[in-house]
Amino acid sequence: MPELPEVEVVRRGLELHVVGRTISSAQVLHPRAVRRHVAGPDDFSAALSGLTVTGTGRRGKYLWLPVMEGTPAERSVAEDALLAHLGMSGQLLLGDPERPVSPHVRVRFTFTDAGPDLRFTDQRTFGHMAFVAGGAVLPSMIAHIAPDPMDPDFDEAAVIGRLRSRRAAIKVALLDQSLVSGIGNIYADEALWRAKLHWATPAAALTRAEAGRLLAAVREVLGEALTAGGTSFDSLYVNVNGESGYFGRSLAVYGREGEPCPRCGTPIRRDPFMNRSAYSCPACQPRTRRRTRHAGRR
Ligand SMILES: [Zn+2]
Repeated sequence: MPELPEVEVVRRGLELHVVGRTISSAQVLHPRAVRRHVAGPDDFSAALSGLTVTGTGRRGKYLWLPVMEGTPAERSVAEDALLAHLGMSGQLLLGDPERPVSPHVRVRFTFTDAGPDLRFTDQRTFGHMAFVAGGAVLPSMIAHIAPDPMDPDFDEAAVIGRLRSRRAAIKVALLDQSLVSGIGNIYADEALWRAKLHWATPAAALTRAEAGRLLAAVREVLGEALTAGGTSFDSLYVNVNGESGYFGRSLAVYGREGEPCPRCGTPIRRDPFMNRSAYSCPACQPRTRRRTRHAGRR
């Protein structure tokens, strides 16, 4: 599943290749791709054709393109947006409009300049797109998603305070998109390893310094993954030009059960975690019994 760095890589590609261009057609090839657009595929197509993309936005793993009629003139700003979520396997790919349309293309956008078209390809169809009237600044349906640690709006002190008020395991708290967005399974495990914290430690048991160290580790891991173009943990994740990222080579613990910890050599351990896995180093990230600050107060 694409995580924040992968989605950010796609956003940057769209910023370079789509902003300033006018959509000539938005062709829905599979209605499931626009299931969240309640007015239906025809309305989606009609709403977008003729609109110019004026920018790109991302909140967590959602992307949006502010769109407006005509070309942006002085004092006029986009009000509406094309919202997209890549789901488990979604890709936004640019290329020659004449190339064959693969069976997994769900929505195809062509542009008035006859340049590269944009194809929303999604083998597993968990991704979706919608036209959001009034959504240019921040589409309302994603306003509940917290800023991610790389977002200029991220309030570190507030997040540390909220994190330390949770009784849940730290990894559960890290994956809660209403607390902090954009951290999925892979980067949570990597950040916990860097911060030398066990995933099952109650968030409420973290000291302020540990919570700060953890958020710093999250930001570091996400930043490095972004620089590497993301992690291509399967063949489905690619940037807008169809290229894979290479952060997978830098993973210390994720998917490395039994391999030596890069820091101390102890074999990496895998634990079942919410129908998935949690990877950690038993020596660097010992599971210690901790009392939460709230323990005993009731
Ligand atoms: Zn270790």
